[in-house]
Amino acid sequence: MYPLRDFLIKSKRAVFLTGSGISKESGIPTFRGKDGLWKQYDPSKLASISAFLDNPALVWEFYRYRQDLISKCHPSRAHLAISQIQKEKENSWVLTQNVDNLHNQAGSKNIIELHGNIFRISCINCGYNDNYNVIMGVPPRCPKCGDVLKPGVVLFGESLPQKDWAKAIEIASSCDIMFVVGTSLNVSPVNILPSYAKENNAVIVEINPELTWLSESADFSLKGSASDVLPKIHDLLKCG
Ligand code: NAD
Repeated sequence: MYPLRDFLIKSKRAVFLTGSGISKESGIPTFRGKDGLWKQYDPSKLASISAFLDNPALVWEFYRYRQDLISKCHPSRAHLAISQIQKEKENSWVLTQNVDNLHNQAGSKNIIELHGNIFRISCINCGYNDNYNVIMGVPPRCPKCGDVLKPGVVLFGESLPQKDWAKAIEIASSCDIMFVVGTSLNVSPVNILPSYAKENNAVIVEINPELTWLSESADFSLKGSASDVLPKIHDLLKCG
């Protein structure tokens, strides 16, 4: 861990690229893991833009179920450790694929939610967006144009919001250390962000109990749960 400590201490911009594994210990299932959601449900029927256009009520039922589950969950020790590290590394960023709002709840700053936020809504007709409120019912209607509102997440088949994506590339391309935490790196285009960091000669640190395609080329591949490893990384900043 000691060379990693030096890199972290010297770094001018640290980035945490996170995926659903970081929220597993908060009680939120991943998509593709052992107990992943996609073992139970078919993503093309419940989480794609074509499914939403065919049957918005069904897609909303799935998202309301996930909202309820997620609203009972709290940030894990991993979310909290990132937020603590950010207090000491001012210019650091969180680029997350998660939609669960837990980095916000943990007190992180400089967060880009690349796949949106499950507690928000958006209108594909007029662009209206806001927080979801249970009194809106299922499926909710846009107060501006009356169209059916979409959950505020990026569904399969949709592009990422352009401004957020451009900012994420800028941040990844200018970091000197990137922690890739709890992601299988199967979802495009977010999975190319480590390559932008690598082009800038950033140190790549993967934290995952399983191997991914990045593990072999990462500078540090720390096999373990994010909640065990990230507090130790925070501790590295404390030891003199
Ligand atoms: P994924 O399901 O494809 O991969 C999860 C990864 O987490 C795996 O590599 C697994 O080995 C790892 N993992 C499992 N337990 C871990 C732990 N304790 N610590 C660290 N890593 C652990 O998820 P993904 O790569 O994030 O991509 C899929 C999509 O999942 C994204 O689009 C995201 O929006 C969506 N998603 C989000 C949530 C959430 O917001 N919490 C939940 C499920 C899915």
